[in-house]
Amino acid sequence: MVEVYFAAGADLWPRYRDALEAAFVEAGLKVTLRDSAPDPAKIDYIVFSPGGEISDFGPFVNCKAVLNLWAGVEKIVGNRTLTQPLCRMVDPAMTEGMVEWVVGHVMRHHLGIDRHVLVQDGVWRHDTSIPPIARERPVTVLGLGALGKACGQALAALNFPVAGWSRSPKEVPGLRCLSGGDGLEEALRGAQIVVTLLPLTRQTENLINAVRLELLAPGAVLINPGRGPLIDDAALIAALDHGRLGHATLDVFREEPLPPSHPFWTHSKVTVTPHIASETRASTASRVIAENVRRGEAGEAFLYLVDREQGY
Ligand code: NDP
Repeated sequence: MVEVYFAAGADLWPRYRDALEAAFVEAGLKVTLRDSAPDPAKIDYIVFSPGGEISDFGPFVNCKAVLNLWAGVEKIVGNRTLTQPLCRMVDPAMTEGMVEWVVGHVMRHHLGIDRHVLVQDGVWRHDTSIPPIARERPVTVLGLGALGKACGQALAALNFPVAGWSRSPKEVPGLRCLSGGDGLEEALRGAQIVVTLLPLTRQTENLINAVRLELLAPGAVLINPGRGPLIDDAALIAALDHGRLGHATLDVFREEPLPPSHPFWTHSKVTVTPHIASETRASTASRVIAENVRRGEAGEAFLYLVDREQGY
């Protein structure tokens, strides 16, 4: 019997218990699933989220892998007690949700939807200028992983010219792929909409700074569902105030929940959403967890293993 400890928080346990049980059965695994670990040495796998119970992984001496429920691992990857392999979550339903959120917010800005839906005052504002169509609006996606690649391809399917940027060189059909320092400059230069889907690491913190914001097209829009610290907040507010940047739609923040007094809440050019861009979904994520347990038991390589050196 394989012992799996759900250490992702009591609030998630009711949502995941049945979904995980079903996924283990579907994968042909005999598993004892528990939400506590009175004897840590007996645990084979840990299902983890940062809101969960464990900060010291030391006692889990026989644990074969820690399976993170979230895509981002910045809150666990630096834990020095974690000697076990760490896998992040790539959940197909979470990817679909992120594509929908990103496309929705890109389209809001591309079509200038606010102009007409926020004011309904009986004035017929028929603009005589012709707005650009998608193929005339360059979009850049920073990060070409599970989420960035899917979002970039969905935007390209709508005819946006999409540039994507990653650490290692890539070829993704439909996207102009760039990498490295020079690649970043090229990806940002003249972009009218930028979507940040990078993990938070030492290399990506404050990546979007004053110098890089200057590279964007005047009035560009920044959409950040990645992580708050990717952006230098003060530089962002300055660029918005000076009219350099047109709008920022932010889903993630340095401090969450975003404090009520934070200037983002009241800034007329900032949209705040409360880290809801896309959730891990229990039914599909449980299958990913079960597949990794199956792989572990069969001695096969784990899916979505985190590179501890790179931090993602
Ligand atoms: P992946 O690990 O699949 O992809 C990360 C991408 O970022 C890769 O393309 C990687 O490059 C690139 N990257 C990493 N470091 C650098 C760097 N220093 N320079 C250039 N590129 C870099 O992650 P996901 O796509 O699954 O998720 C991305 C992030 O989205 C998560 O880490 C999380 O922070 C956030 N997220 C937010 C959610 C929300 O609701 N707001 C929900 C889920 C995730 P390479 O391909 O070369 O490795």
